[in-house]
Formats: sequence, C-alpha cells, structure tokens
Amino acid sequence: SREVHLVSRPHGEPKPSDFEIVETTLDDPETGQVLVRNDWVSVDPYMRGRMNDVKSYVPPFQLNEPMEGGAVGTVVASQSPEVPTGSTVLHDLGWREYARVDAAKVRTVDATIAPPQAYLGVLGMPGLTAYVGLTEIAPVAEGDTVFVSGAAGAVGSLAGQIARKLGARRVIGSAGGPEKTRRLREDFGFDAAIDYRAGDLPGQLAEAAPKGIDVYFDNVGGDHLEAAIGAMRVHGRIALCGAISAYNATEPAPGPNNLVLAVGKRLTLRGFIVMDHADQAGPYAQRAASWLAEGALRTEETIVEGIDQAVDGFLGMMRGANTGKMLVRLSDA
Ligand code: NDP
Repeated sequence: SREVHLVSRPHGEPKPSDFEIVETTLDDPETGQVLVRNDWVSVDPYMRGRMNDVKSYVPPFQLNEPMEGGAVGTVVASQSPEVPTGSTVLHDLGWREYARVDAAKVRTVDATIAPPQAYLGVLGMPGLTAYVGLTEIAPVAEGDTVFVSGAAGAVGSLAGQIARKLGARRVIGSAGGPEKTRRLREDFGFDAAIDYRAGDLPGQLAEAAPKGIDVYFDNVGGDHLEAAIGAMRVHGRIALCGAISAYNATEPAPGPNNLVLAVGKRLTLRGFIVMDHADQAGPYAQRAASWLAEGALRTEETIVEGIDQAVDGFLGMMRGANTGKMLVRLSDA
C-alpha cells in the first residue's frame, strides 16, 4: 500500500518536494479493527494548517508519517461484527491506499442515497459547514441578501444554494476567473458573480448588491472580508468560515482596515469550526438527502486519479484548480 508523507514543513506555498510517496505493508486487522481500501480521499484547505508546526484545533502532521484526512472506502477485511467486509465507510485515515482503522472510528455510510464520495462533500464536512454557517453562525432570514466568497468551491457552491433555500432573496458569489463566475450564475444559481481577479472588489460588490448585504459567508478573508464589511447593512451577520487567501502567507495578513464600521452597523462577526456542530449533522443530512432526491442541489466534483496525484490535487485546490469538491479517486469501486 502506498501513502503520502509530509517530509518537510512548507514555507509559503507547499512544493511537491515537501511530500513523498512511501510504500508500506499493512498488518492484518486486529480484534475490533477493519482494513479499508480507500476509494476516495479528500483534500481540504485546513490540511495546509496542519503542515505547520503550530498549535491549532487539529494537531500538526508529523514529519515522515502518513498524513491524515477524510476518506471513503470499502472494508476488505474485518475483525469487527459491526462493520463487515464489503461495508462502505467514512474515516479519517486518508492520504493512503489502504488503512487499518478501529471499527469504532469508522462510520458506515449509505451509498444508496448518493455515491460514496458524496460523504466527503455535500453529505459530509463541507456540506455541514455551509449549513451550520448559514443557520447557526450567521443565520439567513427571509428576504436577505447573501454574499459568499470562494463560491465555486466545495463549501461555497453549497452555501450559495443553501442560502437560497433558507429564504435569501439575492445571492452573490465571488470566485477567480470568468469561467468560474459563469458557472456561479448558470450552474449554481447565484444572482450575481464577482471575479475577484478582475480587481475592485468593493466596486463590484456595490454593483452586485446596491442596497448592501445582510449575511456574508467568508471563505477567503483579507480583501474579501474588508469589502464585505464595507457593504454590510445594519445588523448584518458574518460567518468567519475560513481565510484561504492567507493560508500560505509568510507574514501576518493585514486586518480589515474598516473594522470600526462593525460598531455603527451593529455587525456580528463569528468564527466557527464545523466539528463543534456535530449535533446538526443529523438534521442537515436529512434535509440534504431530500434536496438531492428532488434534484434541488447542484453538486460538482473535480477529480484527480491515483495516490500519485494526491499532492497535485491538494496543491491545485489551493490555487483554484477545482470547481466544487476536489477529490482523489484511488479505486473504481
Ligand atoms: P474549496 O473547494 O473552496 O477550494 C479552495 C478554493 O479557494 C479554490 O478553489 C480557490 O478558488 C480559492 N482560493 C485560493 N486562493 C485564494 C485567494 N487568494 N483568494 C480567493 N480565493 C482563493 O475549499 P473548501 O470548500 O473545502 O473550503 C473553503 C473554505 O472553507 C476554506 O477557507 C476552508 O478553510 C474553510 N472551511 C472551514 C471549515 C470550518 O469548520 N470553519 C470547514 C471546511 C472548510 P478560486 O479559483 O475562486 O480562487
């Protein structure tokens, strides 16, 4: 079985040489364990943070050890009656072709509702993140104008659609480049789309939302957050979900220079981490499954093939090579 190790801690943008593919032999599962063939592996922005040796809400990756992350696979050997051979399971030992996992740490998923990899996207962590952000953190009210950055990505493309379902009247998204902004409008149902690479974010936002915005779902931070604060209406809510524009930064990123506006506008800015909201996973899964069954949620995947491409997939995602969820396919199962 091959697995991806982090062999040096990146400074700035990670380089392919910071990673190595290592061949290993796995022991048979012990009592209470299962052996999983990983069919799909997730690459996610938070993994960039785990490459640094700093204290955070998830521990750093260890050098010369396999990296970890979400994966969906098939149980090929089992020493646990609860998780028999053939089960499709979700677990945290991605970045490798095979994983030996405690049965208590896998979740059996229902691959009849949606294909298995959906549990890494719309029915998994990114979907729940979008939902929690717009229901608990920066709740959308009927008639709101909502702005989502990183809108063509896994979380953002769902956030835009979920905002509408929660009653938003006008939904605006930003992404990099004309092709992505076209897709925001034509495929993901955004009313207006901003190409942040074209510059003048505040001007573009003012044009897209002449009366201002009520809710901002922030995936990007930096200049996006500053522009959103400028465009917020009184009593506006901002869900601080991520700040990908700063994940490779080697210097502290400048703060929004207009934060004082939050006072007069009575804004709420609230950060969150999805794993604190596991209580919402059940209710969200139910709603998402019914939206999927109705064909009322457009999901998109960008797929790279094989463990050899996993690092490229991650690096590509950090640069915007994906529309929707970036996935690594390891097996055709
Ligand atoms: P995406 O699928 O959105 O992929 C990342 C995207 O970021 C790229 O496609 C790229 O799109 C965009 N991007 C990269 N650099 C920049 C930049 N400098 N400025 C603007 N956009 C940039 O990833 P996810 O949907 O998985 O994650 C989106 C955000 O949500 C991230 O910030 C992530 O950390 C956060 N997150 C937070 C969670 C939480 O619990 N708080 C849970 C899950 C995700 P483009 O081509 O448009 O530039």
